[in-house]
Amino acid sequence: MGSRPSLRHYIAMIAPDLETAIAKLRDLIADARTIVPFTGAGISTECGIPDFRSPGGLWTKNQPIQFGDFVASREMRDEAWRQRFVMQESFAQAKPGRGHRALASLYRAGKVPALVTQNIDNLHQDSGIPPRDVVELHGNTTYATCLECAQRYELTWVKEQFDANGQHAPDCDCGGFIKTATVSFGQSMPAVAMQRAEELSKSCDLFLAVGSSLVVWPAAGFPLMAKRSGAALVIVNREPTEFDDLADLVVRDDIGDALAPFIAR
Ligand code: NAD
Repeated sequence: MGSRPSLRHYIAMIAPDLETAIAKLRDLIADARTIVPFTGAGISTECGIPDFRSPGGLWTKNQPIQFGDFVASREMRDEAWRQRFVMQESFAQAKPGRGHRALASLYRAGKVPALVTQNIDNLHQDSGIPPRDVVELHGNTTYATCLECAQRYELTWVKEQFDANGQHAPDCDCGGFIKTATVSFGQSMPAVAMQRAEELSKSCDLFLAVGSSLVVWPAAGFPLMAKRSGAALVIVNREPTEFDDLADLVVRDDIGDALAPFIAR
């Protein structure tokens, strides 16, 4: 038997400084048998992809297009694609950051069965976690699919067609609408990913919520589910979240700085 306190002995705390936060996190990771990371847009900001809600975030420029509007209107589909192409340079150039690399190290160490993400940027897969173990709650924006027949399309092809058709979005050969493979507001959540995220949240003993404002539901329900199922909850986010009072450890610091010590050399 080791002398470390059990996970349950940690009481809710906001780490007073980065050093204390890293030391607590190191203990929690060492004590855990099964760790489930849950990530949001904040983990990718150091990679050059803005989040939604920070100053300068995507919502300060464009309001998200609702799924109902996308399917109802050709103008909205054209506008959705125009907005997507504006962001293409950031998405195409982004490489995994320190947070991604730290979580990939934990995965390789064998304690992380799979990672749950709200992100759509493919950076966890790029960091080396096999796609089968990246549970994407909101899909993936690095490719597109037909909403009718699910045929996959690459963005370079969509852009060529868009430009060739006078800035109009192409449709699928089957007549269906082509959309980035993301889950928009108003669109159904992916059932298989939701089921897997629930199983992971209920069966882990350490849940790491990293870079999420925890306001987008139903995704924000998973930290709560994990905590209620007995897991220790760690929140790493530079701004307060509504769940901070429930957390066993709150790290209100930069994600890259907080997780860099966990990158395996
Ligand atoms: P959010 O924008 O609501 O919240 C991000 C949080 O991360 C903020 O609270 C912010 O303070 C924090 N943050 C940003 N950079 C940080 C840093 N370097 N260190 C510490 N904290 C940092 O994001 P969300 O909770 O993921 O929800 C928004 C939705 O936006 C998601 O559903 C996601 O699909 C989508 N989205 C994804 C991406 C992406 O894939 N990279 C980018 C923008 C939006």
